[in-house]
Amino acid sequence: MIPVSTFKGLTVAVFGLGGSGLVTAQALMAGGAEVVAFDDGEKSRAKALEAGIPVGDLNGLDWSAIAALILSPGVPLTHPEPHWSVKLAQAAGVEIIGDIELFCRERRAHARHSPFIAITGTNGKSTTTALISHLLQRGGRDVQMGGNIGTAILSLAPPAGRRVHVVECSSYQIDLSPTLDPSVGVHLNLTPDHLDRHGSIEGYAAVKEQLIAGVERGGTAVVGVDDDFSAAMAERAEGAGTHVVRISVMRPLEDGIWRDGEELVLSEGGVEKFRFSLSGIPSLRGVHNAQNAAAAFAAARALGLAPEVILVAMRSFPGLAHRMEQVGHKGGVLFVNDSKATNADAAERALLSFDDIFWIAGGKPKAGGIAPLAPLFPKLRKAYLIGEAAEDFARTLGPVPHEITGTLDGAVAAAARDAEAAGLPQAVVLLSPACASFDQFPNFEVRGDAFRALVKALPGVA
Ligand code: ADP
Repeated sequence: MIPVSTFKGLTVAVFGLGGSGLVTAQALMAGGAEVVAFDDGEKSRAKALEAGIPVGDLNGLDWSAIAALILSPGVPLTHPEPHWSVKLAQAAGVEIIGDIELFCRERRAHARHSPFIAITGTNGKSTTTALISHLLQRGGRDVQMGGNIGTAILSLAPPAGRRVHVVECSSYQIDLSPTLDPSVGVHLNLTPDHLDRHGSIEGYAAVKEQLIAGVERGGTAVVGVDDDFSAAMAERAEGAGTHVVRISVMRPLEDGIWRDGEELVLSEGGVEKFRFSLSGIPSLRGVHNAQNAAAAFAAARALGLAPEVILVAMRSFPGLAHRMEQVGHKGGVLFVNDSKATNADAAERALLSFDDIFWIAGGKPKAGGIAPLAPLFPKLRKAYLIGEAAEDFARTLGPVPHEITGTLDGAVAAAARDAEAAGLPQAVVLLSPACASFDQFPNFEVRGDAFRALVKALPGVA
């Protein structure tokens, strides 16, 4: 745990007592702060009390005596409407921050020069965060990984010496981190997402940009420049004197890291300095992963790892569960769990990455369905449709071979049977649902775990 010392002797309100909220309250207490914690859910409050955290109604507080409101990132700060605790804090002029901000203050107070890599972007954050951690670990560094990727940042070991913190930041977390100052800031890409929480794409982009604009003096900003918003961020950061490494998977760059087919090229001043291939790395299939790999390469290099070391380490990246995760194979048939693909955009990445696909899709539908994927339908050998979206997807597929199997177990059995019978040299049974899971599963992880278990239970699967 990272005890938060910067509020020692002060009273702090904590709202939101999920996993990270509980850790935040404990970290503040460990650092000597008085904590008053609250959550709208009775169960969460009971859990906090059990953990020895003082729970009190923030409505009845004397806010003039409160030093800060520490908010969970899931609680609305601005849109669609500020949460009631936010309104109370604002009315009293109390600052509202999150756990990543607390981390930044601790680092500045106690280990100013310890490396801190922060990663954001609309897509690819977790993959890039895990890949950077993997590269640094393989390079012999002491690495702590957390943030939005799942481990609450304040539950990590404290910043110290050469220890590296690799932290995934969602836009909500950045919004609560006014002095976010990574030594290496990585911003991958920007596409419309979460606009309900940020008001507009401009508002969302401005929040993301804080991570790049905040990069500390002497640090490095790694920026994917394949969309206009992100390209403009790179320009502005460079204009402000930050060292910027640009990433592109769409076009060659004079300066930066860019994709040439399945290879990544590092160019400086128009001169090619290093080139390496991503082919044969199953965890980094697809153009989108080339973007993640290029960004991770740049971040590891900024921390002094040699390109050759990075390259070797990249080949052993196991990948993340539920993101084009290879879960088994039988003869020429590969089974891939991409349960994290909860919308058509994400499923598109997977369909682009394979040919001869036996596709399992469906679940709780999202607006637009799978119509945007029509150009990729020629890659489908057959589709197996599950959940609430099945009928609608069947209509969109039209003449493309498909069957409504309803459940995941039926779909796995049918797809495995057909893929095997097809006798193709390289077929893939792909779960990439383009839907949320909530109609049949508690979340995408449980859906992916179920798929993995079904595949492993098939006779002859290795
Ligand atoms: P995040 O943490 O930002 O949600 P993940 O690394 O968990 O991203 O990847 C989630 C999904 O997003 C992947 O399954 C893939 O479909 C897609 N994706 C991953 N990286 C990228 C990228 N660089 N650009 C676009 N889409 C991506």
